[in-house]
Amino acid sequence: MHELSLCGAIADIVTRHAEGRPVQTIHLRIGQLRQIVPDTLVYCWSLFTADTALAGSRIDVEHVPARLACRACGDRRELDAAPVFACPSCAGTDLEVVTGEEFLITSLDLTGA
Ligand SMILES: [Zn+2]
Repeated sequence: MHELSLCGAIADIVTRHAEGRPVQTIHLRIGQLRQIVPDTLVYCWSLFTADTALAGSRIDVEHVPARLACRACGDRRELDAAPVFACPSCAGTDLEVVTGEEFLITSLDLTGA
């Protein structure tokens, strides 16, 4: 499962940064285009960390909507549901993804820190 392998990657990074300190909350920023279901990720995290030093830590997901910019006419808009491959304004196809591809750990809340 996609989310499960992500949990492994997150756990690696968090463990390295926590340096043995207990972790309360992991703040993530996830772009819409990543096609990650936050609820599934949170659920996988609780399973994945159950028997580890990260058991009981919580994932907090900040969802970033996808925004595209058209290089031809400068039109910028948020994607709602279906991906678009042409500019709705000028039908140009030279589109740039402005936001939506994020996958970042933005901060950690450490107990007693
Ligand atoms: Zn355009």
